[in-house]
Amino acid sequence: MLISVHVIEVEYKYMIESKLPKVGTTIFATMSQLAAEHNAINLSQGFPDFPVSEELIDLIYRNMQMGHNQYAPMAGLPKLREAIAHKIDKLYNLSVSAETDITVTAGATEAIFSSIMALVHKGDEVIVLEPAYDCYIPAIELAGGKPVPVLLNTTDFSVDWEAVERAVNGNTRVLMINTPHNPTGAVLSHTDLERLKKLLERNPKLTVISDEVYEHIIFDEVPHYGMLNDPFLASRSVAIYSFGKTFHATGWKLGYAVAPEALSKEIRKVHQYVTFSVHTPSQFALASYLENEEHYKGLHTFYQKKRNAFKDKLKDSRFRIVPCYGTYFQLLDYSAISDQSDKEFANYLTKELGVAGIPISVFYSNGFDPKMLRFCFAKGEDTLTKAAEILCKI
Ligand code: PMP
Ligand code: GLN
Repeated sequence: MLISVHVIEVEYKYMIESKLPKVGTTIFATMSQLAAEHNAINLSQGFPDFPVSEELIDLIYRNMQMGHNQYAPMAGLPKLREAIAHKIDKLYNLSVSAETDITVTAGATEAIFSSIMALVHKGDEVIVLEPAYDCYIPAIELAGGKPVPVLLNTTDFSVDWEAVERAVNGNTRVLMINTPHNPTGAVLSHTDLERLKKLLERNPKLTVISDEVYEHIIFDEVPHYGMLNDPFLASRSVAIYSFGKTFHATGWKLGYAVAPEALSKEIRKVHQYVTFSVHTPSQFALASYLENEEHYKGLHTFYQKKRNAFKDKLKDSRFRIVPCYGTYFQLLDYSAISDQSDKEFANYLTKELGVAGIPISVFYSNGFDPKMLRFCFAKGEDTLTKAAEILCKI
């Protein structure tokens, strides 16, 4: 007689104690699926709809043909780490060791996860500035740490440094930073870096994990102020980047973490058991591709045109367009249009009108709902025009 798996499941399911009882499927997967089901224009999950450079694809293909198909060194291909070190030197005027300070990871997500696992011990407090990208808090919880949410200023999503200072205590080990910021498009300024330096000077046990995946997607000629801009900040931080964002290849899941030797050593201990190493032919290809800085230097101009075009197409809508200084996300405030919760409004837009966005309340631990949706403008002109036409009719 066949016994159904379901019967076995019923018997055993209560033996599993979830490590993440409050976590469901991410909002990005949920909204992308809803968009697909309703044939809606998907401006929810952040990914570009334009092609990866032929040259880069060709490089991967050729490296596969050359036989670069076995495990890469655990910390990343030396040639790629050297190319990254060279880029950091040129962009940030900072010398980092390719051998000891750079670890190539399976996207920024893995770099964030491995860094949190390596640095956060049971009971340690980690400050998370909210709204916050969704992968930080579950990783902190899996490490046994305590996430301590601190709200960004509600007017412009700048950092409330006084609130951060109030939140720091003897148990605080890590401060999570994200600039340019997802989902708000806010960016850190030089003054923010000065405040952060003072905070770190006063709190020697504090380390920064800085998510800078949008380092090249920053607008209006404002420079990117990240941890590598300052040798002191770099000495106290893990700075995290994503090739997926920079080269329109989010599906490749390739990124890297830059941290001083002692921190990198601990991060690599985790990384080697999460993935060990990442896709070898892509690492060879990226090492060559990075040699030409034109491959990433023009990215901000490319996306600024998209931001401006999308904004322009929405100028007669009833949405309030929240200023966006970086990332490829535009926040739209719909408080003048509807009283619905952001989740309800996002569902309504997707199902009834055919445009999908991301509700912002999911990025707040307390479910705060500022009545805003996030729309990804990393899309072709036609897609943005069609989406904006729908949004303007509301
Ligand atoms: N951090 C932020 C702020 C992001 O927006 C994303 C992805 N969009 C990631 C991390 C993850 O990057 P990756 O796809 O390289 O894992
Ligand atoms: N980072 C992307 C976003 O913000 C989503 C990545 C994912 O789906 N995990 O939309």
